[in-house]
Amino acid sequence: MARPLTGKVVIATHNAGKLREMRDLLAPYGITAVSAGELGLPVPDETGHMFAANAAIKAHAAAKATGLPAISDDSGLCVEALDGAPGLFTADWAGPTKDFPAAMGRVEQELQKRSDGMEPNRRAHFVSALVVAWPDGHEDLFEGRVHGKVVWPPRGEKGFGYDPMFQPDGFEQTFGQLTAEEKHGIVWTDGVAKALSHRARAFLRLAEGCLRRA
Ligand code: IMP
Repeated sequence: MARPLTGKVVIATHNAGKLREMRDLLAPYGITAVSAGELGLPVPDETGHMFAANAAIKAHAAAKATGLPAISDDSGLCVEALDGAPGLFTADWAGPTKDFPAAMGRVEQELQKRSDGMEPNRRAHFVSALVVAWPDGHEDLFEGRVHGKVVWPPRGEKGFGYDPMFQPDGFEQTFGQLTAEEKHGIVWTDGVAKALSHRARAFLRLAEGCLRRA
């Protein structure tokens, strides 16, 4: 059973885009969230071989450093025709200067390289592994994914990271063109909660396991 979460938590991230989305998602649950970046915590090395392992490394480091429960997201873009790349290396492809236009350009270049002049297979998905870690070492894991395709050229100024090149199934717009509410808002229909983005889908599972609406 997942452990209930109340009061104050640390969001174990230094990524402003992820922090904004997590704060939006936590807002209805009366949770006060401070981020690892705001607390000046060091960025731990992500040495895991799975999204869940890297999320756990970040969450446990923040929980240990602060004595508070910590939530972390490890996420990435997996492109089918690139054997799942950039995957765990999604952030690395943007380099130390976080050059996401260059990272998206590399995805397109690699796709073109492999497609021999044919239209490439553009199927892709985003994955999010959310870990809640506690100072005593307890941990709960929740995962979400969203399927779609990578488009070229990138479209839209909203969102962050690879949003402008990812078009989720069932939409004509990329994540970069959708509003924050459309991308990661929770929609209730007949008592059932639904969400679009990988992170919001993982969060719905987290909320079901650990949170109560304020
Ligand atoms: P992490 O911080 O190691 O989890 O790296 C995740 C990488 O995936 C970062 O480069 C993010 O910009 C990218 N990423 C994760 N989620 C999203 C998203 O919702 N939209 C766009 N890019 C994302």
